[in-house]
Amino acid sequence: MKVKVISILEDNYMYLIIEENTRHAIAVDAAVSKRLLEIIKKEDVSLKAILTTHHHWDHARGNEELAQLYPGLAVYGGDERVGALTHRVTHNEELKFGSINVRCLLTPGHTAGDVCYFVWEDDSPDAPAAFTGDTLFVGGCGRILEGTPEQMHKNLTEVLGTLPKETKVFCGHEYTARNLKFALKVEPENEIVKERLSWAKLRDDEDLPTVPSTLAEEEDSVQKFTGKTDPIEVFAALCKAKDSFRKPKERLNPQAMLAFEWGLFDPLLEKK
Ligand SMILES: [Zn+2]
Repeated sequence: MKVKVISILEDNYMYLIIEENTRHAIAVDAAVSKRLLEIIKKEDVSLKAILTTHHHWDHARGNEELAQLYPGLAVYGGDERVGALTHRVTHNEELKFGSINVRCLLTPGHTAGDVCYFVWEDDSPDAPAAFTGDTLFVGGCGRILEGTPEQMHKNLTEVLGTLPKETKVFCGHEYTARNLKFALKVEPENEIVKERLSWAKLRDDEDLPTVPSTLAEEEDSVQKFTGKTDPIEVFAALCKAKDSFRKPKERLNPQAMLAFEWGLFDPLLEKK
């Protein structure tokens, strides 16, 4: 299967998963219908379904128009607030589109109805893919708007964290350089962060995406950190730190700073 990475709006990603034999396609977070239609035409594929990670406009705004253009189009999501929703999915529900399989993973936290989609193709050497929306980014996790630190922690460790390590991570926004800049501020001597940041900046200069990452890359940091201290405590500290960070003169507590350093949490993310 082929995954088209489509940059839209300021820093969002929309994706088109293509089954190459049949030229059938599934869109992920179809926020800008006009742009999606251009890609569908260019790739000469037929759109079969939309997978929506959450109801925010910058992920779901194109659903209604596409549903009108393609009568019978299936629109999947985990929240009644998702536009043109035809199928509300349940945790671990599996969908099949030809040789492409989708497992729906409910990951409440950013919103109450967030879903990540784990996708693989039958008899294919390609690594599986996870479409993580605003739950997991490259170098950080999403902002908790409608959930608890416990939920977000479970999403990262028990839900996404148990997927195969080679899984490619396709997230909802290009926040990589921003995440890594913050990490470097916290730990200026970290060579790995330095390297990743200069790579991310280069990609940015060339107007190229930093997705996909792999789960192995993102998990390393989670595991290193959670090995050091009680994970739920960390997340509770992170929530406090998020508020502290918005008042720049207030110092973050050391535990929270360590968590930022490992990319577990990004307080800079705007509400989207
Ligand atoms: Zn969002």
